[in-house]
Amino acid sequence: MSKIRVLPDHISNLIAAGEVVERPASVAKELVENAVDAGATRIVIDVESGGRRLLKITDDGEGMSRDDGVLAFERHATSKISKAEDLNAIGTLGFRGEALASIASVARVELVTRTDDASAATRVVIEGGRMRDVKDAPHPRGTTIAVRDLFFNTPARRKFLRSEATESYHLTNLVTHYALAHPEIAFTLTNNGRETLRVAPAKDLRERAYQIFGAQFLDSLLEVNNAISEPTETSFSLPQIAKVRGFVSAPRERRTSRDAQYLFVNGRFVRDRLIGRALSEGYRSILPHGVYPIALLFIDVPLEEVDVNVHPAKTEVRFRRAAAVADAVREAVRAGLASAGYAPAADIRDRRAVADEVGADAAAADPKVALVQPPESPIETRPTGFELRPAPQQERIAFATARAEGPMAPDRPSIDSLPQTVSPEAVSVASAPSQIQSEEIFSAIELSRTESDVKAFPDLPPLDSALKFVREVAVESLSANIRPLGQLDESFIIATDDEGLLLIDQHVAHERVLFDKYRALEASRKSESQQMLIPETFDLTPAQAAAFDAVAEELEAYGFELMRLSGRTVAIKSTPADLPASEARNVLSEVLDTVDNEKRGAARATLRDEIAASLACHAAIKVNMPLAPEKMRWLIDRLLLTSSPTTCPHGRPVILRLATQDILKGFHRI
Ligand code: ADP
Ligand code: MG
Repeated sequence: MSKIRVLPDHISNLIAAGEVVERPASVAKELVENAVDAGATRIVIDVESGGRRLLKITDDGEGMSRDDGVLAFERHATSKISKAEDLNAIGTLGFRGEALASIASVARVELVTRTDDASAATRVVIEGGRMRDVKDAPHPRGTTIAVRDLFFNTPARRKFLRSEATESYHLTNLVTHYALAHPEIAFTLTNNGRETLRVAPAKDLRERAYQIFGAQFLDSLLEVNNAISEPTETSFSLPQIAKVRGFVSAPRERRTSRDAQYLFVNGRFVRDRLIGRALSEGYRSILPHGVYPIALLFIDVPLEEVDVNVHPAKTEVRFRRAAAVADAVREAVRAGLASAGYAPAADIRDRRAVADEVGADAAAADPKVALVQPPESPIETRPTGFELRPAPQQERIAFATARAEGPMAPDRPSIDSLPQTVSPEAVSVASAPSQIQSEEIFSAIELSRTESDVKAFPDLPPLDSALKFVREVAVESLSANIRPLGQLDESFIIATDDEGLLLIDQHVAHERVLFDKYRALEASRKSESQQMLIPETFDLTPAQAAAFDAVAEELEAYGFELMRLSGRTVAIKSTPADLPASEARNVLSEVLDTVDNEKRGAARATLRDEIAASLACHAAIKVNMPLAPEKMRWLIDRLLLTSSPTTCPHGRPVILRLATQDILKGFHRI
């Protein structure tokens, strides 16, 4: 029984055109997708020479009849869609009917396939697009497709192939993605005869992630699942358009690229800027800009909500309601962080919405903050009238304890301690000859973009070697017993606590104090202004002018009073309390420059955090500033009362510690 048809022109013309065979990993992608679509429970991938010499994929899926086995190599031949409407709700990974034709045109391909009811399997040989042979052959139900000598007839494209190690990396990465997307399928990847990845069928994503990355790695991840989060905890009161589940990393895991973000939409692995950005927004004020969390995120939306016919490689998607999907991702990630104690739970709520709801002091609804009259503040640049303080001290301790009991080990795992553990039952992550270890997939491969780097990689020291002795202080190890001793370089407070010697970055410490204060004042609509003696004018760039109207209201909520004059000129009549007048322009520029379209519409809370962070940064004491002992004391006390004393609003560490133990070791006393 034939299932494949060649699509008529009027349908094939609707399909995103373009070449999909770029490198071995892109061939593997198409072939693995075909195996998944065929309902395989087991997929075996054999690679030689980084996929140039051989790429062989065997599955136990439904297989093809002889007619189909031949027809499959025609352009636009597919069993997955038959009419134009099918393009509106694609439930399979493939639908273009072009992959096999494209691959066969640039390689020597041998397909052996058998369906359940066929008496024999069919072997099809096709080279450079020319059919060479079709005959019976032995094969169990399922399909084996061997692709040899990729680009043998297109030397120009062969030249673009990178080293074996690089191509192997991409292949391994690709198989890892599909293995994560399909825990129910067993995968084996063999590279030059050695197993690189072998995973038995797993019951869920957690088990699969454990199989691939090991227990320690999994322990450092936090669960995300918006199906179980309380609807009242989010600002998202509409029915959720997207189910978001998976894992994200605790804030101390940082990556400088998005390479460790595994994003899937309806089981399809995608590279999606919208989701990537929404993910980062979930980490607002927890991770700095330019630093990315690790993520395994599965976003499920109704088929008709997403268009996968955007890019020939099908790695990009377009959402019908993109902003709602971004909201769902951001809030789900935020909730995951909050339930692990990394973001205050109340932070999830849109504070403006809270204020509107209760019609009063939103801070009162937040158990972590209350506004009290301040003691004399020796450090403020201007008098303020109010200071932020956690109401019950226990709240902060409870928050810290939640973290202490959370899944994070106190120390950042070093690269070589990452994913070694594997479960004994037929599950292993073996070493590849090319040294493509799964930690490379997951972490530092951004360092190894070039061939020589890939080769050099195994020799690189662990990323955290510089932190061997002086470490970021984990919030759970903080005590109130911090005693300032003096200043280093007029920039860092030297102090001691019960565990050793501390260095506190005075600027970021004050930034954290002010950030929490600005945020709480804004949330409770108690922001204070200081009037300029003479209003200052400020000229906006065209881009800033375009953003201005959308942001002005938020800026005013923090105490700015702005008046748009003619053209692109704005008069600054008042500025937020504590902000030196000379910094007002800097804050305005910074905020206007970072505001892009999505943020203006979708993520008001992110914008508010950004404004607070910018204000805090510009109002905080600077480095290279002498501090009197009582100022140091004041700053430390205030810092300890904040929501996150160990990280600044941009996610940088605030306190480093040299442990007494390490001092003793350094002096060879132990
Ligand atoms: P598409 O996957 O977009 O339909 P392909 O060129 O990848 O196009 O494959 C063409 C057709 O060949 C598929 O629609 C499917 O019917 C069949 N096919 C390809 N690979 C397999 C496989 N491993 N098992 C069963 N059928 C397959
Ligand atoms: Mg396909």
